[in-house]
Amino acid sequence: MELYDALIIGGGASGLLCAIAAKRKNPLLRVAVIEKNDRVGKKLLSTGNGRCNLTHTAVDSSHYTGSFRRQSQSVLDRFGTAELLAYFRRLGLLTSCDSEGRYYPLCRQASAVLDVLRFNCEAAGAEVFCSQTIRSVKHRERYTVTTADRVFCADKLVVAAGSKASPKLGGSGSAADILKNLGHRFVPFSPALCPVLVQSGLLKGLKGLRAQGKVTLLRDGKAVRAEYGEVQFNEQNLSGICVFNLSLYAHGGDVLALDLLPDISEKELNILLLQNKKTYAALTADNLFTGILQKRMAQAVLKTAGCTDFAKNCAGCTDAELQRAAQTAKSMCFSVTGNEGFDRAQACTGGVYGGEIDEKTMRSKKQKNLWVCGEAVDLCGECGGYNLHFAFASGIIAGENL
Ligand SMILES: Cc1cc2nc3c(=O)[nH]c(=O)nc-3n(C[C@H](O)[C@H](O)[C@H](O)COP(=O)(O)OP(=O)(O)OC[C@H]3O[C@@H](n4cnc5c(N)ncnc54)[C@H](O)[C@@H]3O)c2cc1C
Repeated sequence: MELYDALIIGGGASGLLCAIAAKRKNPLLRVAVIEKNDRVGKKLLSTGNGRCNLTHTAVDSSHYTGSFRRQSQSVLDRFGTAELLAYFRRLGLLTSCDSEGRYYPLCRQASAVLDVLRFNCEAAGAEVFCSQTIRSVKHRERYTVTTADRVFCADKLVVAAGSKASPKLGGSGSAADILKNLGHRFVPFSPALCPVLVQSGLLKGLKGLRAQGKVTLLRDGKAVRAEYGEVQFNEQNLSGICVFNLSLYAHGGDVLALDLLPDISEKELNILLLQNKKTYAALTADNLFTGILQKRMAQAVLKTAGCTDFAKNCAGCTDAELQRAAQTAKSMCFSVTGNEGFDRAQACTGGVYGGEIDEKTMRSKKQKNLWVCGEAVDLCGECGGYNLHFAFASGIIAGENL
């Protein structure tokens, strides 16, 4: 049996920061990180396309969803962008910001972030145990974590085991199992920040295209949320950062309405199409959107608007058809059937119920000497560095309060 003061389950973004913060605050604390993979921080290496988008200039609770959302503001007030960057600087990591407000390591390598965390963990004296398959977590006088080949014992336990997103990189449902067994309410994990599956006869023709626009998530005809950016059209789904952000809120039965031309009104577009009808009078109908949309996109818009006869020329299109084409280009609808699942998700909604965690310390309100941080908490952020920011910030807060 191996005796410690604190055990941290999960050697990812939040667990590593938790271990470092705990040891920096109290070097005498005996801390062990228990990781199931053969190395820590595997997911971290894949973040931000291998560059690790670790935070954002504008971090506040409006970029998150989940039952911990209201409380998350307190975490973000204590550990905002400046505080987190200063913390990293003290650990020896230099960062810089891109034109969209996203922060990365200066050398643009996620491995640099992981190396800094690994080396600081080691230098601070936290012990790391990899390839540990947990068999059980029990709490009597103390916490006992039994793995395939070891038994760890400690007064304090931190659950930093993340979510089910990306199982190949370490995603697991362990946090749910452990915390439910310890008496917590747990909102089931659901894939987020992933492509959204849609049903539409148009997708075949659009496959491989990318278009800039405004995407609105509609539920029962009402706008739930809107995002601007590049949409990518695939065989069965829509993707792109703006769609990923909407995947946080989208359910089967919702609709994604794409405005391909958000900078001009439907009326202005209609006038342009009437002008094009004259200019390109002798050309086939799919030239109506010349200078406005890509050809394949124009064909899809015209098809949706009911103008399927591309053999006829522009002059042959009726004004009503042009009006419908303008309407369609301003609101091209795709019915949501679901999302691409945990394998392709960058994060998850769900986690330990927010009301059962004290935001000042990340300590459980239900169970003695238990802390939860990172994605195991019911809080999920948008793309842009928000999830890592919360994982790091909540890990530091938990570690400093052990
Ligand atoms: C491809 C990809 C790209 C991403 N890019 C970004 C980005 O650029 N910016 C951003 O902000 N967010 C990004 N994210 C999300 C971000 O990586 C996570 O939100 C963040 O890592 C969560 O930190 P965490 O510590 O809670 O969980 P993790 O970092 O997942 O760490 C949890 C650790 O616990 C371990 N573990 C799980 N179960 C057990 C168990 N039973 N026993 C022992 N160990 C266990 C796992 O192996 C893992 O190492 C990305 C995610 C993916 C998948």
